[in-house]
Amino acid sequence: MEFFADWHTHSKYSDGKGTIPENAEAALAKGLSELAITDHGPANIGTGVKCCETYFEIIDEVRTISERYPGLTIKVGAEADITGSDGSIDIPSEVRDRLDILIVGLHPYVMPASLEGVWSVVGINQLAGISRGGRERARVSNTKALKEAVYRFDVDFISHPNLKMPVDISELSAACAACDTAIEINTGHHYDKEVLVRAAVKTGVDFVVCSDAHFPASVGELQEGAAVLERFAVSGERVLNAV
Ligand SMILES: [Zn+2]
Ligand SMILES: [Zn+2]
Repeated sequence: MEFFADWHTHSKYSDGKGTIPENAEAALAKGLSELAITDHGPANIGTGVKCCETYFEIIDEVRTISERYPGLTIKVGAEADITGSDGSIDIPSEVRDRLDILIVGLHPYVMPASLEGVWSVVGINQLAGISRGGRERARVSNTKALKEAVYRFDVDFISHPNLKMPVDISELSAACAACDTAIEINTGHHYDKEVLVRAAVKTGVDFVVCSDAHFPASVGELQEGAAVLERFAVSGERVLNAV
């Protein structure tokens, strides 16, 4: 499996350590022809972009520097946070309309959209580790929130499902398959990717493999994802950023 794109990387505009040019140079060095800068949404406490207008600054910078990188298409996206069990996210429509890629993911430390989200997004996951019942409650709530987001918005893919926050992968993947949303294999974090692929593959959902790079050196480091997918006989046709 050969990859031509890495569609999930962070820059200094959120909690990445690299500049956009540094990520671009790293992508070219890895032989990629597409890169996406997908900084965290503003609700991500301590790691998100300062405000939604930051995405417009990123778009301007990418437009300015693009001609320095012939052969590389630089896309601008966001890794939106789930902020409520109704699938609310922290990227408003006026920003979404100007982005090339919308990723949605669950993160443990976010500013909820409303009082309801204080429990359904943050509290329920904080208590998930205490008992089996608590974990199951979190799993049901997390799965519902992600599915609602997939139904409500034009989501390109779900970042790292099952990382730290439990999700019913079969149920989520079925919803994604119906809505043309892909499931990410995230090579930037350690979690059980075999469990993820085993459940997702049966639903017919498409995959993407992304680095979630927070350092330029990690951009395009995707081989672990290829190895997992090949173990389950998933061919390149089902992997949107592979040939
Ligand atoms: Zn993430
Ligand atoms: Zn990320």
